[in-house]
Amino acid sequence: MRLSFLGGAHQVTGSKFWLQTPAGNVLVDCGMYQGQDHLRVQNNVSIDLEPADIDWVLLTHAHIDHSGLLPRLYKLGFRGRVVTTSATADLCQLMFLDSAHIQQEDAEFDLKKWRDRGRPGPPPQPLYTVQDAQQCLEIFQPVAYGERIQLSPTLAVRFCDAGHILGSASIEVWAAETGQEGKIIFSGDIGGPDRPILRDPQVPEGGDFVVIESTYGDRLHEPRAQSIARLKNIIQTTIQRKGHVLIPAFAVGRTQEVLFEIADFIRDGDIPQIPVFVDSPMAIEATEIFRRHPECFDAEMNQLIQAHRSPFGFPGLQITRTREESMRINDFHKPCIIISASGMCTGGRIRHHLRHHLGHHNDTILFAGYQATGTLGRRILDGTKHVEVFPGETHEVRCRVAGVDGFSAHTDRAGLLDWVRRAGSDAQAVFVVHGEPEAAFALRQAIVEELDLCVCVPDAFETYDLTDATAICAQTI
Ligand SMILES: [Zn+2]
Repeated sequence: MRLSFLGGAHQVTGSKFWLQTPAGNVLVDCGMYQGQDHLRVQNNVSIDLEPADIDWVLLTHAHIDHSGLLPRLYKLGFRGRVVTTSATADLCQLMFLDSAHIQQEDAEFDLKKWRDRGRPGPPPQPLYTVQDAQQCLEIFQPVAYGERIQLSPTLAVRFCDAGHILGSASIEVWAAETGQEGKIIFSGDIGGPDRPILRDPQVPEGGDFVVIESTYGDRLHEPRAQSIARLKNIIQTTIQRKGHVLIPAFAVGRTQEVLFEIADFIRDGDIPQIPVFVDSPMAIEATEIFRRHPECFDAEMNQLIQAHRSPFGFPGLQITRTREESMRINDFHKPCIIISASGMCTGGRIRHHLRHHLGHHNDTILFAGYQATGTLGRRILDGTKHVEVFPGETHEVRCRVAGVDGFSAHTDRAGLLDWVRRAGSDAQAVFVVHGEPEAAFALRQAIVEELDLCVCVPDAFETYDLTDATAICAQTI
């Protein structure tokens, strides 16, 4: 049995782990590289593994950096099965079609550049099309949490809730070789405790080998209660100034979490019952998918729904689907809250709202998510006084700008250590992936010091023979 790290090594994007078993080839996640150009080109690089030779893809969750290259794998000949939870399968439908549209638009832009430059080399092609994405969705095999699924006589899997986004899972894989069964646990992305809507992560135990993410392997988060208090205070003071609160938020996960908190503030009378607009077609569709998957909710969320107090349907909540409805929000002059995407202001309807609100002293732009370097969101949050919202269109920032950072979908260093303490207390080796090098090596050191386990931070394309743990540990020294 061999484990290769085809992506997500020393970085947080492009997760892809290849497990060779006697039963066949298993790929855990098939993530797209996102971010800067030198990362994105890796989406086109062929891997040692022929897509047609893959038997199963086990998908931990729907985020594009874990799922986004699946339609490309299909395009290149993969015809096995994608095994994942049913909520992840539904979210992938939304994410893949959106991603395919972006791929096609990017390819058209590249094609124009290619023509302008005198057609050097072959014409640029999209990574995949809407048709590839749709066909890929047909080979999904949805499974329930907690059910042991026998993929072949010598290979079984079980998905348990990772508490990261709707449908997210850690995956246990049992594989037998020469009569001996071993268990490998893949953490996927792990959520923090006590987040709204979703359950806390459920930790599988007894892994012989453990592959763990390390996004925040070197950091502790601001306590969630502190972030919620600040969110409430910012909304209250903006309402007192008769302003608008504009919240750029990721369509899947963050929008629903922010709605949950706002519904809570209104219910408790902490803020008056003002209109709350959700203005992003993708966020609206994602919220519909949330509604369809109560099996993923925690006890508190289920109680709210039973009491007809769903955060996705409170008085004042207004869903704007069409462009015309979206534009009409501009005519609303009383205090209100507008939640729109994209979360880093790189595209989508949020930019139209920014154009309208950046110049108003009484309004607030409130960031509830991570803002990557180089994005419009980051420039505004960093205090830039003049920003380009659309090409050639600069606006002065006169509104209030604020950020809360306790809404992370990833657990922190303490949560990761606790997870590995339970999943891999007797593991022969732990592999630390999905983190920038500082975070990954900080987590490695903590696991070695506190749990005295053999821990590797694999390089990209590195392969380990899981039948020889002694050699693996020798490799880490
Ligand atoms: Zn994720």
